[in-house]
Amino acid sequence: MGSLALSRVEATDRPAPTIADEVARIARQELAPLAGAIDAGSVYPGELLRSLGKVGAWSSHVPQEGPADLRCAIQSIAVIGEVCGATAFMAWCQNTLVWYAANSTNLNLARRFGDSFSSGRVLGGTGLSNPMKSFFGIERLKLKGRRVDGGYIVKGALPWVSNLGPDHYFGTIFEREDEGGGTAKSGPVGAAKSGPDIVMFLADCSNPAITLQPCKPFLAMDGTGTYGVQFRDVFVSDELILAEQAGQFVKKIRAGFVLLQTGMGLGLIKDCIGIMDEVGPPLGHVNRYLPQQPTQFRELHAEFEKEAMALACDPYNSDDSYWRRVIGLRLRLGDASVAAAHAAMLHCGARGYLKSHRAQRRLREAYFVAIVTPATKQLRKMLAGDEH
Ligand SMILES: Cc1cc2nc3c(=O)[nH]c(=O)nc-3n(C[C@H](O)[C@H](O)[C@H](O)COP(=O)(O)OP(=O)(O)OC[C@H]3O[C@@H](n4cnc5c(N)ncnc54)[C@H](O)[C@@H]3O)c2cc1C
Repeated sequence: MGSLALSRVEATDRPAPTIADEVARIARQELAPLAGAIDAGSVYPGELLRSLGKVGAWSSHVPQEGPADLRCAIQSIAVIGEVCGATAFMAWCQNTLVWYAANSTNLNLARRFGDSFSSGRVLGGTGLSNPMKSFFGIERLKLKGRRVDGGYIVKGALPWVSNLGPDHYFGTIFEREDEGGGTAKSGPVGAAKSGPDIVMFLADCSNPAITLQPCKPFLAMDGTGTYGVQFRDVFVSDELILAEQAGQFVKKIRAGFVLLQTGMGLGLIKDCIGIMDEVGPPLGHVNRYLPQQPTQFRELHAEFEKEAMALACDPYNSDDSYWRRVIGLRLRLGDASVAAAHAAMLHCGARGYLKSHRAQRRLREAYFVAIVTPATKQLRKMLAGDEH
């Protein structure tokens, strides 16, 4: 009786679980047993992503009539990333899709898709790697569109888009090649093109003129629903247009796009610290001679987390100095992810060399943090302010 009364008091005194707590619970209980199969590419965790949506994982960053706060979304991606880097990436894809719809001024689109994306009823991602590279003079836009009655006809192909399936959506950009559009030029580094010649839209994977081509097996990230996407004269109705002037729109959403990625690195680094700590008791007497120790990564992690949380409160800040802080943090997180996973391998020794140990999975996942757009080399180019 006494202990029952006590547990009631404890239950009522305990603060309500936050979204990130609920996400962490699902990650530990439901995602952890699937992480190996997702890594091997035999499972795409669609149901799990929907369950995460039900506890609010994809909705906390939706702006409420004004400012947006990305802190909870980043923390949620981080707790997923502690368990599985591939799923943290899919969490970023879904959150980014939500971010696009939530910032669109196309009210028909927001009405039709806002809730279904942010609740996880409809899943999807983003095909912005090619446009992001094109804005910074790295490659040319791969999708072309021309105006027709009620929308656009779009053609071209994107080599990789993740978190896709037959009924999924993703946001991407085409270049107008009709009279309404301007000439395609690479924009200056640090600034998206602001002319009327690029249009951002939602691609509907169930459209028969869109084909999802399975990719060749990857080093990691195979269970992420990643496909090459072909557009064969796809009709994109006005209802699917995220922004007629994509240059301005991208300026608005780009800090959020990059900041949400920090959750992937934060989660991965935290688990690498955990791996180093786990082998401390049996191997600490010799591991202490290694140049990189968990304490250093703990300090780095705390510094990055503090900076991410500070920047995440203000994702519409248009100052150049703010944008440079966002890019700088993203670059350091990519570098530190690879360094932490490398250190975890060295601390583990032979036991980490086993395929069954997660250290080698973390190492492969870490490289993805460093190569996903904006990749390390692009971030360095952006910070160098180099136009071409
Ligand atoms: C597993 C995985 C998932 C991804 N998911 C997404 C996503 O959801 N959305 C998205 O927009 N981008 C996605 N990408 C792309 C990613 O964000 C980067 O753009 C990509 O990793 C390369 O970036 P980079 O800057 O290093 O370019 P680089 O690798 O230096 O150059 C990229 C360009 O090289 C060419 N190229 C090189 N290798 C190949 C190849 N094997 N097949 C075809 N073309 C090739 C293409 O023109 C390509 O655009 C994904 C990539 C991978 C590996």
